[in-house]
Amino acid sequence: MNEVDRMIPAAPACPVCGKPVDPAYKPFCSRRCADIDLNRWLSGVYAIPAKDEEDEDGERPAEGEAGD
Ligand SMILES: [Zn+2]
Repeated sequence: MNEVDRMIPAAPACPVCGKPVDPAYKPFCSRRCADIDLNRWLSGVYAIPAKDEEDEDGERPAEGEAGD
């Protein structure tokens, strides 16, 4: 049963187009697919496409700062 041995063990495939993954763009096959997936992800999570700013803590409500 050598033929089975010749099979590539779980060759990673691009989740976007199914092509072989390029180590440089893991887990995608190209930057384009990485971009596509990123766009899908963003449009699914965020309603507004944010590009330049990456403020992770920018929208924190001032908790416990209510001077009553
Ligand atoms: Zn791809």
